[in-house]
Amino acid sequence: MSPVAMALLLAASMGAFGVLAWRRWRLLRLARPEARFDQLGERFRRMMRMGVGQQRMSRYPLAGLAHKAIFFGFIVLLLRSLILFARGFVDAPGFGYWVFDSGTLLGNVYALVKDVYVVLVLAGVGVFAYMRLVARTRRLTLSAEGVLILVIIATMMIADVVYDAAGLALHHPGAGFSPWEPLGSLAAPAFAWMGDGAKAFAWHAGFWVHVSLVLGFLNLLPLSKHFHIITGLPNVFFQDLTPPGRLRPIADIEGKIERGETLGLRTLDDLTWKGVLDLYSCTECGRCTDHCPAAKTGKILSPKAITVDLRNHLYATGSSRGATKAVEGEGGGVTLEDIVPAVVNPEALWACTTCRACEQECPLNISYVDKIVDMRRHLVMERGENPASLNGAFQSMERAGNPYAAGAEDRLKWAEGLEVPVLSDLPEGAKDRVLFWVGCAPAYDARARGIARAMVKLLNHAKVDWCCLGAEECCTGDAARRAGNEFLFQAMATGNVETLKRYGVTKILTVCAHCFNSLGNEYPDFGGAFEVVHHTQFLAALVREGRLTPTHRVETSLVYHDACYLGRHNDVYDAPREVLRSVPGVTLVEAAASRDRGMCCGAGGAQMFKEEEHGTQRVSEARTIQLVQTGAKTIASACPFCMRMLTDAVAKQGDGAIAQMDVAEVLLKSIEGEIA
Ligand code: SF4
Ligand code: SF4
Repeated sequence: MSPVAMALLLAASMGAFGVLAWRRWRLLRLARPEARFDQLGERFRRMMRMGVGQQRMSRYPLAGLAHKAIFFGFIVLLLRSLILFARGFVDAPGFGYWVFDSGTLLGNVYALVKDVYVVLVLAGVGVFAYMRLVARTRRLTLSAEGVLILVIIATMMIADVVYDAAGLALHHPGAGFSPWEPLGSLAAPAFAWMGDGAKAFAWHAGFWVHVSLVLGFLNLLPLSKHFHIITGLPNVFFQDLTPPGRLRPIADIEGKIERGETLGLRTLDDLTWKGVLDLYSCTECGRCTDHCPAAKTGKILSPKAITVDLRNHLYATGSSRGATKAVEGEGGGVTLEDIVPAVVNPEALWACTTCRACEQECPLNISYVDKIVDMRRHLVMERGENPASLNGAFQSMERAGNPYAAGAEDRLKWAEGLEVPVLSDLPEGAKDRVLFWVGCAPAYDARARGIARAMVKLLNHAKVDWCCLGAEECCTGDAARRAGNEFLFQAMATGNVETLKRYGVTKILTVCAHCFNSLGNEYPDFGGAFEVVHHTQFLAALVREGRLTPTHRVETSLVYHDACYLGRHNDVYDAPREVLRSVPGVTLVEAAASRDRGMCCGAGGAQMFKEEEHGTQRVSEARTIQLVQTGAKTIASACPFCMRMLTDAVAKQGDGAIAQMDVAEVLLKSIEGEIA
């Protein structure tokens, strides 16, 4: 075409891209370190499945198909762009690096595949244009940038067809339809009537528009949400491989305080490089906010907005180690604004239930709970700025070892009338016994006590050797940790691990999804590596082994509510359903939002112990409506927090026809005929 023009265009655009990419790379390199280079094989597998395989895209079928068309189209058309760059230098219209030259077998096959993807990419662009401009899909922000990118992609595709068609008309007049170049040969007659000069002009125009837009688009990437085209796969590759329910501990809290180091996430300086990569990778698709229970119920929290606002702040400010716009402090150094409240409204932060619905939906594996809890950590431990309604729970956990302002001496009240083997009475310790970790809610919440009582009866029916800690059991600290009080959590975790080890406990059974998560996923960081099993898993195994046989019919239609800390945090979806299906008479129905799309009950993230943030509806009420809409007569749950939230919401709705039971209670009813 024109070697000089091509060289100048390439040099200018690659130079500009180099500068932009360097700025982004520098911020990444200067961020806090984080170890994400382990288990490379597993990382690669996940990247292939989630990134290249676009696994999560299918959760939104139409948008998913459109994105897949564009994603794979870009991969196919990358070669086309490289071929066109080369044709800018050589005077050979069919050049394709010899392997893909026009007329060769591979060249023909590639030309056909390329044409198919040009159509698919145009269709994908059409879908997104429809969603943005016509349907005005709520989760997508209508921005000039988004529309501009769609116009650029569509123009690139059309320019490619013009280049092929005008080229055929110019170099092979009257050639007719070619199955290898369907688009070009079908469009060629549109240029056939022109003179050679006009055909050559159209051919050159198609070429230069295509290559210019490709290179222009490349430069737009680091400046836009489409940076994910570059950072997306690395972000999926470097995802957290530890259990989703585990929060990273802050090491040496007291030492950090003495050294004046920040606790939690205060400014951009406290982000790790993976945190920065998360910000770079957000496509602004809004899937996270679309499923956020806080956003759904009118709270000001929007996970997407948190990421986008943090990214804008990062681009505007940089970090003190690599400031793009240095803010001079009194000492002449760089000071950065505190993220809360400058970028993130504290009310949004405190509305989060840590349910992970956002993370489950995000196609780029961007994490939220860790950042939100890290911001809370800074507010609570350094500024003492937690919601006042949490103070009571914090104080009670500190003084009495539970968030219910109840005495340790009352911990066994739930078991009145039952024979309960307490470890301190057993000279041999926990030897060969499974420890029933009762949890604070079943110990102190009047309704949740029924869960613990049902569980004990089932254990006795199955002749399980079990024991419990009695008054020595202390809150796991889950709520303190999710509320940002890491100091309190670590004190409680360390104390509990000491107690459990002292009695030689190896296996723990819990009826609470939050205890299950903390004990199983977080206590290993404090030296407590126990086998932890949730009661639904334990009961499913007992039924399977024939040690429990549900016999009495429980005639009810029943909908099971997935607890976030059992499902999304620990991937336990089938065990509760298996138990319920084993009960004769039960008709199990599913809510439209169930399993990994189940909506939170509103209790997690310490919400159970604080006032809900301002919104249009309580989360528990929204979830209860979804469950009631199934027409089921009974709501079953597998976590005492869920039970409390749903029971209150059902009572508020005044729907006395709906029963609310734990999975263990349903099973016991079938075994005993009724619950005493
Ligand atoms: S964890 Fe749940 S409540 Fe928190 S931002 Fe994500 S979806 Fe919203
Ligand atoms: S965080 Fe993920 S789900 Fe949310 S807008 Fe960004 S890419 Fe989409």
